[in-house]
Amino acid sequence: MEPSLSNRIKSLSTSQTIAMAERAAELKAEGIDVISLSLGEPDYDTPGYIVEAAKKAMDNKFFKYPPIVGYKDLRQAIVNKLKRDNNLDYDIDQIVVSTGSKQSIFNAAMVLVSPGEEVLLPAPYWVSYFEITKLVGGVPVPIKTTIENDFKITPEQLEAAITPKTKLMIFNTPSNPSGSVYSKEELEALGEVLKKHPQVYVISDEIYEYINFTGGFASFAEIEEIKDRIITINGVSKAFAMTGWRVGYMAAHPTIAKACAKIQSQVTSGANSIAQKATIAALDGGKEKIQYMIDGFDERRQLVYKLLKDIPGFKVNMPTGAFYFFPDVSELFGKTFNGTKINNATELSMYLLEEAKVATVTGEAFGNPECLRFSYATSQEELKKAFARVKKALAF
Ligand code: PLP
Repeated sequence: MEPSLSNRIKSLSTSQTIAMAERAAELKAEGIDVISLSLGEPDYDTPGYIVEAAKKAMDNKFFKYPPIVGYKDLRQAIVNKLKRDNNLDYDIDQIVVSTGSKQSIFNAAMVLVSPGEEVLLPAPYWVSYFEITKLVGGVPVPIKTTIENDFKITPEQLEAAITPKTKLMIFNTPSNPSGSVYSKEELEALGEVLKKHPQVYVISDEIYEYINFTGGFASFAEIEEIKDRIITINGVSKAFAMTGWRVGYMAAHPTIAKACAKIQSQVTSGANSIAQKATIAALDGGKEKIQYMIDGFDERRQLVYKLLKDIPGFKVNMPTGAFYFFPDVSELFGKTFNGTKINNATELSMYLLEEAKVATVTGEAFGNPECLRFSYATSQEELKKAFARVKKALAF
């Protein structure tokens, strides 16, 4: 007999980014040369100075349960980072370290949203925001953007989306999947709307902060009047190529931080001790030490922009952050390639996997079904090969 699962889990979707990666892995296992442009993971190794810090933590026997909210020296390093990079003042008791920023986002949504409350999700949104909202009993309310406005919401759209039931907005800059980065002026304009609605909180996911080609970065919590309602999320996965180490963090009002610590005390007992110590080295080293990775992403960005522009039917903008392109491919819907009719982005994504052996992610997963996401966190050689195959598969 099939085990009987809860309604909560039945309503949850498996991440489509993972579903596509699994299908790509199956093809690879059959010996087929699949190029994966579907995962949000740097292809670089974690830098040596961070690995050394982890080894030292092991030599110093950091083997016991760490504090629920994270080691004090790590939380101090986070306070220092937020001051140094973002000019944000936080006390150490406003910081909670978690098992990846994904858990920080989940914790924050869990402590803020009551069942039936609405959660605004500027679309395209990162897939997990939608599912986390459902898991905590919230009602996802996408705010649709398009490539024409660089996938950014306007203050008018935000104002129109807020209702008496709105509790939270989950915001992301630089954005996965669009690569858009909001300027300080754009955030301030959204902040003006939020000032009028004191019941609305914002999770500001800034995990791609360093992978940003605009020359500057504005953090939502810089808007002093609403800072107490902003939960700043960041982590080391993307910038420091530390996806497997699983360390993320939040900075928030002490009441919110304490509530998140309560959840964590019952669920995980805090992040891995060795990874926490390694994270101190990462944060203290700052952006300068990993600039070579950002430069590498930028070179690939320039390359992929040219390659994508060259594919008929793809409407492309130049992303200014993260490591994704999110072209509008709707012009191809209704067309037939090699006997396969493409009706939507999901079918196009599947067609490119089967025909070009290139794994992508359908925009449907991010709330923009007219788009397709390509991750460029792979070598230039692989990128050239992948886009040559895509172009061939879509030749008229
Ligand atoms: N936020 C965004 C927008 C992401 O793309 C990701 C990872 O793909 C995360 C958060 C999660 O990162 P972490 O590894 O810190 O859990």
